[in-house]
Amino acid sequence: MQHDTDLIIVGAGLAGACAAVTLSRDHRVRILEAEAPASGASGAAAGLVNPFMGRRARPVWRLREALAAVPALLEEADASNLFPDTGVLRPAVEPNQVASFQEAAHEHSDLATWLAPATVHDRYPAVRPNRGALFVPLGGAVDVGAMVRALLDAAESRGATVETQAPVLYWRETPDAAVVEVGRGDKTEELRTDLVLLALGQGFPPFPELRRLGLEGVKGQTVRVQRPESLPDTLPPMSGRGYVVPDGDTLILGSNYDNNYDDLRPDPDATKYIREKTSKMIPDLDQAEVLDETAGVRVMHSATNLPLLGPLPRRERIWTFTALGSKGLLTAPHLARNLPTYLNDPTKIPNSVSALKA
Ligand SMILES: Cc1cc2nc3c(=O)[nH]c(=O)nc-3n(C[C@H](O)[C@H](O)[C@H](O)COP(=O)(O)OP(=O)(O)OC[C@H]3O[C@@H](n4cnc5c(N)ncnc54)[C@H](O)[C@@H]3O)c2cc1C
Repeated sequence: MQHDTDLIIVGAGLAGACAAVTLSRDHRVRILEAEAPASGASGAAAGLVNPFMGRRARPVWRLREALAAVPALLEEADASNLFPDTGVLRPAVEPNQVASFQEAAHEHSDLATWLAPATVHDRYPAVRPNRGALFVPLGGAVDVGAMVRALLDAAESRGATVETQAPVLYWRETPDAAVVEVGRGDKTEELRTDLVLLALGQGFPPFPELRRLGLEGVKGQTVRVQRPESLPDTLPPMSGRGYVVPDGDTLILGSNYDNNYDDLRPDPDATKYIREKTSKMIPDLDQAEVLDETAGVRVMHSATNLPLLGPLPRRERIWTFTALGSKGLLTAPHLARNLPTYLNDPTKIPNSVSALKA
C-alpha cells in the first residue's frame, strides 16, 4: 500500500534531526515534534565534542567514525560554520589523571596531544591547576540547537516536512503500515506510513514500550554566564572540573547529574554547584553574571550506556533512535549516517546498539 510518506520521525531533537537529514535523501519524511525543535535535552546541551571522556579520558564508542561524522553531517546541511576549528582542551585536574591522559595521547597520537604544564601556562594562563592537559584538535563545540535547526532545514529542502506542536500519543503497526496517533488540540488524528522512527529523547517516560528497553533519565543543566573581561576570547572549549564552552561574550558552564528529580526546571543549587566547580578550573567563574540556565534530561541505556537504534522488540515498522546519553554529538551523527543502510538491511545494525537486543 502506498502512503503519503515513507517515514515518520517522532521528535525533532538531535536524534530526529540527524535522521531526518540522511533519510530525506531517498525517502519522503515527515517529522512530528511535540513542542519545538531542540526543546528537550538538545536545547540544554553545552555542545562539547569531546571524544576522550571521563576522568580517565577513555575513547568514545567508534571514536574515529564518531568524530568524522559531526563535520560531515554539518557539511551536508551547509552549516560547517557551527563547528569552528578550536579543538577541545582537557586539563588534568587530579594528579592521577596525568598518566591516563598521557596514555591516551600516546595510544591515539594522531588525534590527541599531551601538553606539558609549561605549554599550558604559555597558551592558556587562566587554567587551574596546571598539571598539563590533553588537547584534541578535531574536537570542539557545536551549538546543538542551531545544528538541529540547520539539519531540519536541509531535510525540508529535500522535501521533508516538519510539524511542531504535534505530540504523538500512541503507535501501532499493521501488516502493511505503521500508524501514529497525533494530538490535535482536543482531537486526535491517525497517520499511516511505512515506518515510524521514535526519537523521543526525554519524552520516553509515558510509553511502557520504551521504558522496557531499560532507559533511565538523568537531569542536568547548563549555565550561561558573561565572560569575565580578564579572560581572553581565544580560550578553547574545555572539560576538566565540569566544562566551559566559550560562545561570543558568554561562556556556557556545565554540568550536574541528578538521578532523582521531580520537575524539569533549572535548579538554583545546581547552578551554584556548577559555578563553584568550574571556578576551580577558571578562576572567578563563580562571580560571573548568570545570564541563563537550561535544564534537560539525558536518556541513558542503563545496561550499556550506548545508544539504541532499530526496530523495537516484536516490531518491524516501529523503530527507535534513543539513549544518546551525555554524548549525543558523538553518537547521533555517526549512527544517522548509517541509518539508510540499516533501513535496507536491519541485520547490519551493530549488536551493541540494536534496540531489538536491549
Ligand atoms: C545539561 C546537558 C548537557 C549536555 N552536554 C552535552 C555535550 O556537551 N555534548 C554532547 O554530545 N551531548 C551533551 N548532552 C547530551 C545531548 O544533549 C543528548 O544526548 C541529545 O541532545 C539527545 O537528543 P535526543 O534527540 O535523543 O533527545 P531530545 O533532545 O530530548 O529530543 C527529543 C525531542 O522529542 C520531542 N518529543 C518528546 N516526546 C514526544 C512525543 N510524544 N511526540 C512528539 N515529539 C516528542 C521533544 O519535544 C524533543 O524535542 C547534554 C545533555 C544535557 C542535559
